[in-house]
Amino acid sequence: MDLSHSLLALLGVEHGFGTRFSEGETGRGRGKSGEAVTLRQVHGTTVLKESESVSSGVPASGDGLFSGPGGRPVGVWTADCLPILLSSASGRHVAALHAGWRGATAGIAREGVLRLLREGGGPTREMRAVMGPSIGVCCYEVGPEVWEAVEEGTPGYRPASLSNLDIRGLVAFQLEEMGLLPENIGSLSLCTRCHPDLFFSHRGMGGERKGRSMINYILPRP
Ligand SMILES: [Zn+2]
Repeated sequence: MDLSHSLLALLGVEHGFGTRFSEGETGRGRGKSGEAVTLRQVHGTTVLKESESVSSGVPASGDGLFSGPGGRPVGVWTADCLPILLSSASGRHVAALHAGWRGATAGIAREGVLRLLREGGGPTREMRAVMGPSIGVCCYEVGPEVWEAVEEGTPGYRPASLSNLDIRGLVAFQLEEMGLLPENIGSLSLCTRCHPDLFFSHRGMGGERKGRSMINYILPRP
């Protein structure tokens, strides 16, 4: 079982946010999610094209993948980190992004938007962005190193709380700074830690059982 969002569904863009009930031990599903191209994720801000996903026979490193007209489905793995799916208004230019606090503060969402622009997926005011299940502000207590990174990467952002990070709020702020319209930014607003029945949560498992994560994928319209 994958979750979806109306902002992308209304464009006719096939996509899904994985859950515990997606097929397979690691949440990689059948069909399009099972075919999704993925990267070796490193909490950075590199967004590659799907044709660049393999380097010397092994998955390339990066935290975002772009796919254009006729391209393959692209995906990111998460288990508390935030999955972000982007689409142009035509649905023919899409990207899947993986954002933990390091990637989010360093600007992975901005890099995703810039990649869509470079590949003909603009303008930004017509792009759609949907944030999937992740650890929520309710459960995401963070230390001073995170706030320093927030201040450095997004100086205009004023967090409501200085103990817990609202990673979706931060990313939505960055996307609006890039020119996306608030009504084109969606969120499933589900906390992975609060819903162990639905999601794998790295923090919720005390860091144990590494490798159990969920795939979030998107497929460009042909
Ligand atoms: Zn929570």
